[in-house]
Amino acid sequence: MQQKITLRLSPAEAANDQDIKRKISQQSGAKESTITGFQLLKKSIDARGKNVFYNITLNAFINEPFRHYQSPEFLFKDVGQSNRTAIIIGAGPAGLFAALKLIEAGIKPIILERGKDVKSRRRDLAILNKQGIINAESNYCFGEGGAGTYSDGKLYTRSNKRGDINRILQLFVKFGAPENILYDAHPHIGTNKLPQIISAMRAMIIDCGGEVLFEKKVTDFIINQDKIDAVITADQTKFIADHYILATGHSARDIFELLQQKNILIEAKPIALGVRVEHPQTLIDKIQYHCDSRSEFLPPSSYSLVQQVNGKGVFSFCMCPGGIIATASTHPGELVVNGWSPSKRNNPFANSGMVVEVSTEDALHATKHLNVDPKNPLLFMYFQQMVEQKAYSIGGGNFVAPAQRMVDFCNQKTSDSLPQNSYLPGLHSADLKTVLPQFISNALSNGLKQFGKKMKGYYTNDAILVATESRTSSPIRIPRNDETLAHPQIKNLFPCGEGAGYAGGIVSAAMDGEKVARVIGG
Ligand SMILES: Cc1cc2nc3c(=O)[nH]c(=O)nc-3n(C[C@H](O)[C@H](O)[C@H](O)COP(=O)(O)OP(=O)(O)OC[C@H]3O[C@@H](n4cnc5c(N)ncnc54)[C@H](O)[C@@H]3O)c2cc1C
Repeated sequence: MQQKITLRLSPAEAANDQDIKRKISQQSGAKESTITGFQLLKKSIDARGKNVFYNITLNAFINEPFRHYQSPEFLFKDVGQSNRTAIIIGAGPAGLFAALKLIEAGIKPIILERGKDVKSRRRDLAILNKQGIINAESNYCFGEGGAGTYSDGKLYTRSNKRGDINRILQLFVKFGAPENILYDAHPHIGTNKLPQIISAMRAMIIDCGGEVLFEKKVTDFIINQDKIDAVITADQTKFIADHYILATGHSARDIFELLQQKNILIEAKPIALGVRVEHPQTLIDKIQYHCDSRSEFLPPSSYSLVQQVNGKGVFSFCMCPGGIIATASTHPGELVVNGWSPSKRNNPFANSGMVVEVSTEDALHATKHLNVDPKNPLLFMYFQQMVEQKAYSIGGGNFVAPAQRMVDFCNQKTSDSLPQNSYLPGLHSADLKTVLPQFISNALSNGLKQFGKKMKGYYTNDAILVATESRTSSPIRIPRNDETLAHPQIKNLFPCGEGAGYAGGIVSAAMDGEKVARVIGG
């Protein structure tokens, strides 16, 4: 017999299979010796009260042999000789999951990726971190696996399409992710494990007859009436297919400009912008777990904060417990930060984006000196770029980032010193009000003080703010038909993933890639 059971356990009990079996026995009435095993279905932490608990839902095997998790069958076909082809521009989560889905439908995917394979990409990241030199084609955003590869690998999404989410997680497990992502309330893979998973996906695509080509930056579309005839890459190679999936992510500014130049409809999409906040992890643990030091049975804690300040949303974003602040720039002279963490989340710092909503009026006001036409769909991109360039110049070059202690920022005082931190290219003490537009500084100051009331100890000068967290989402949307998912003007162009405005994270980008491929597959 199998029985679904929900348990509330102390962290120590939740880490011990024998204790779990004892609890199953108590709850089901079955003798402990008849419980052959259990499969976790859901696991979440409840840290609301003084004592922290795990809530666990599991499937107990009683009086029958235990069966370990079985990966579902995925029917990847041999598409090497298929006469149906699709070019996928961009090998991020949207592009890779689109390719796998096309293969299931019998269509041959040809992925054109501007960056390098995961291994070569690592070398460019080391140069960026150690020498402050960026490769504009190979960085934290560009290269195999997209912005998802050297990310935190948090796999939660606000989407509620449970079936689709499960399928994405199952695919990650098939390609090497740990099984706990299937039941953890906040699944997470970690930067150290993602590259192997991405390589395994590439191997499957190639084994099935698909193609994955690196250092192939798409620079032009050859358009004939309402269709793309071919795409051209930077090395002047022409690629032709039946369908074109555009999955180039939120940082492919040259693609946004190309679409505008070609009069292909794109729309401005409001963004949020701010800073990355970093605290000592021990402090966040103390606050969240109400203790002096975290139990060995609990993971480094996280938080999620949101506040309205004068009608503007201020919110935390992409929190990385035990993480590192990284340079997520894609271009020289522009400073962008983001965060990642390894699978063990064992760095001594807790970082999170802390951003403020930016409206059209805000962006227009802040870019007044640039004379941007209010109807220009690239308005938010210009706004991002302007703040990123300011941050770079105030940082002093080589991706040294301007930073300020939290309370100093709110009190308008440049910090005399900066605390130890995780940001490898280095920090420069600066007044962030000279980097950020005033409406952002004001909303952030207010928001941070409010967050200090919600989380006692959060508002502290032991925390630093690092500028700028500016690539929280795409600054444009590429419209598509609700049913065909094709662009309204170009019938074989399928805008997809985060860059096109249909996703905001690894899982939602992967789901969107599958969605587009499913429609193409018919
Ligand atoms: C440091 C960091 C940490 C993050 N942490 C998380 C996290 O923990 N959880 C989460 O859900 N999300 C996280 N994100 C965001 C997440 O990575 C993105 O939401 C996701 O990768 C978007 O997927 P995508 O496929 O739409 O686009 P991308 O991943 O951006 O992929 C786009 C790809 O297109 C390629 N490309 C661009 N232009 C061209 C061109 N002209 N020709 C050919 N190829 C091109 C790029 O090189 C890139 O590989 C993080 C991002 C960063 C940078």
